[in-house]
Amino acid sequence: MSSTTRSNAGPNTVKTETPQSLNAPTKTKKTSVKIEVPSRSKVTTKKTSEASGSTRKKVVKCEPADKKIKTEAGASVVQRKKSITVKKEPTPKVPKEKKTRVSKKKPAFTLPPEASLYLDQSMRGRVVRAMKQKMFVISREADARDNSIEKFEVLGSVGNNYTVVMGPSIKCSCMDFALRRVHCKHILMVLLKVYRLPIDNLMFRTLSPNKALRLESRSYRRTVDPSILVPEEIRQKILSIGYQNHPDAKPIVPENTATRRSLDTSDCPICFEEFEQEAITTIDFCKTCGNNVHNECFKMWASTKGSNVTCVYCRNKWVVEKPAASGFHKNSVRQLNSSHVNEKYYANFAQELGISRKRDLSMYRKDY
Ligand SMILES: [Zn+2]
Ligand SMILES: [Zn+2]
Ligand SMILES: [Zn+2]
Repeated sequence: MSSTTRSNAGPNTVKTETPQSLNAPTKTKKTSVKIEVPSRSKVTTKKTSEASGSTRKKVVKCEPADKKIKTEAGASVVQRKKSITVKKEPTPKVPKEKKTRVSKKKPAFTLPPEASLYLDQSMRGRVVRAMKQKMFVISREADARDNSIEKFEVLGSVGNNYTVVMGPSIKCSCMDFALRRVHCKHILMVLLKVYRLPIDNLMFRTLSPNKALRLESRSYRRTVDPSILVPEEIRQKILSIGYQNHPDAKPIVPENTATRRSLDTSDCPICFEEFEQEAITTIDFCKTCGNNVHNECFKMWASTKGSNVTCVYCRNKWVVEKPAASGFHKNSVRQLNSSHVNEKYYANFAQELGISRKRDLSMYRKDY
């Protein structure tokens, strides 16, 4: 009987997960056999039921869900759902484990009744989407000169990277904001899930909050909604791909980093002066070939190279050992490879998040 179960179960996924003991005769306790459904197939079962409700269409993998029911008589019955049609999309294959890392939890959210007092219909729709959709914050920093201004790097529902600024004028780099100049769902996500403001807060009704309002909104509640957080490993990876000098990014250092060559092996390749041991802190070296160069000289050289800074000697990409403490900036989309750029020329990290780049439009045609 248990062998039937195995062959009925879906391909690949379940097969590897199925405990071997399934086949082996268990220590016979009367006739009742309890079969554990591997947890992964439970997840997919959920997905299919959602898909049939047409709320989600991005089901990647799906097998007919088997349900084992322990009957009184002791024999377990295998029920099969058969008639589920699932489209397999040609999405880039992401290793399974990555997918599970990002939280799938969707908080149940309905607008409070007072929402219609404060927000018009399109705004209510965006509020609901901001609450329901998976969006993430990968970087949050206060402005160095005015700490009432905060900048957020967010990943939207299909993994696009946008910048939200909560300052004297609230801004987002997305198309919705550029076209309509209203609170887009990314701005709303920050208000709702980072600041966790109630819907009657003034921040929902102005894009030009004064300093007092900004500071007050920010300290409204202490903890952010955990659903916006990306696992640290993935976050660091995204920051190192998408940004220059982000303090949290892991610097990409070649496998075998060269050590500095002795200062007397050569002169500076740019100014042709000798190096002086006392001035070692002003002398940088290539992490690939180990050759030395004056910091100032290298800066000059690098400024002529644009984004593609290479070593004067070996022409390999120049590796910055320690990212600067402040002043990170986004890489332009030209510096990213195509898997990290979407069709509207936004940086996209769906791959790292293990999510689909395809927009779920089912939430856009409802009235709230
Ligand atoms: Zn936006
Ligand atoms: Zn020099
Ligand atoms: Zn070099």
